[in-house]
Amino acid sequence: MVKIATQLAQGTNGTDDDKTGAVVAPLYFSTAFRHPGLGQSTGYDYSRLETPTRELLEKQLAAIEHGTHALAVSSGMAAIDLVFSALTKTGDHFLSTDDLYGGSFRYFDERQANYKINYDKWNGINVDDLLLQIRPETKLVWIESPSNPTMKVIDIEGVAKAVHAIRPDILIAVDNTFLTPIYQNPLDLGADIVVHSATKYLGGHNDILAGAVIVKDDALFTTLTNQLTTTGQTLDPFPAWLLIRSLKTLAVRMAGHTKNAQYLAGKLPTLPGIDKVLYAGVGGMISFYLADNYNVDTFLRHLQVCSFAESLGGVESLITVPYIQTHHDMSVEDRLHLGITPQLIRFSVGLEDQDDLLSDITRAVAAAKE
Ligand SMILES: *Cc1c(COP(=O)(O)O)cnc(C)c1O
Repeated sequence: MVKIATQLAQGTNGTDDDKTGAVVAPLYFSTAFRHPGLGQSTGYDYSRLETPTRELLEKQLAAIEHGTHALAVSSGMAAIDLVFSALTKTGDHFLSTDDLYGGSFRYFDERQANYKINYDKWNGINVDDLLLQIRPETKLVWIESPSNPTMKVIDIEGVAKAVHAIRPDILIAVDNTFLTPIYQNPLDLGADIVVHSATKYLGGHNDILAGAVIVKDDALFTTLTNQLTTTGQTLDPFPAWLLIRSLKTLAVRMAGHTKNAQYLAGKLPTLPGIDKVLYAGVGGMISFYLADNYNVDTFLRHLQVCSFAESLGGVESLITVPYIQTHHDMSVEDRLHLGITPQLIRFSVGLEDQDDLLSDITRAVAAAKE
């Protein structure tokens, strides 16, 4: 395969060569497809099952994540739901890293309460501790790395090796939303399933809601496809096409996010009013603690370049307060235990000029002193 930047720029082009030679792939809206005759199909029947535009996106997602198959769905939560609704049932058990996207925990708690699909959390540090929590009915291990919002890096390869050595049947699933295939290919590290909220970096412009599941096993793909056909959380052609377009710039966007985030991760700790900065070293996600005598609300109100808004991964810098937003559904005890305090700020570093970002934060922090 060509290198990823080439695959991103060119991998979806030229599909119309036989008809028009259009460089960029066309967008097919049709929900219905004519059959040549009884028992015959062009390969497309009805758009919940597959559309040419979604299929093209799925091929690209599979290629860049080094999988064999991908399923493009209507949101990141739909991707998570697809995995659990297809692969777990009442009485099953799974394990999860303890610092995750808040909506994933809300989903896990719902599965536990309503379907008795129980789960336990692992702190992501010692793999032996994880192995001790495996039960006969354990089906899956769920990993998000780096973790959200405290940026812990999990050894995906170590987990996959250790778990598969004693239980090859347990699936390792990785939410790769934060690093994207530019920095991490979980399937190459031994994972079985990769999930994305494509709303974030893959989409990259804060204007598409989408999700993806990528696998490398045919039987797993068939199970997921049957579930998706049944539940219908597929991605509509228009956002699929926008995502195809967005992916073309993923490599250059991720490089820009990393450059800006590395710059800020170096500068922010020197600012009065910032106690500590958390950063995984690559990617665009930074968290930091405002000192106790700095008012979070005043800080947010003084931002001019960054927006106080709840998402991440776009060209526009967004800032959130996980304690009261993305992680609000976790118990106060759990939040504080993980370091998700009311003073913790999560910063999705965008592609603005790095000095404009630094002066925005500097000014807003200074204004927030009580
Ligand atoms: C946003 C997010 C999700 C959920 O995705 P949606 O597209 O909002 O449904 C899942 N995982 C991570 C890491 C996220 O950031």
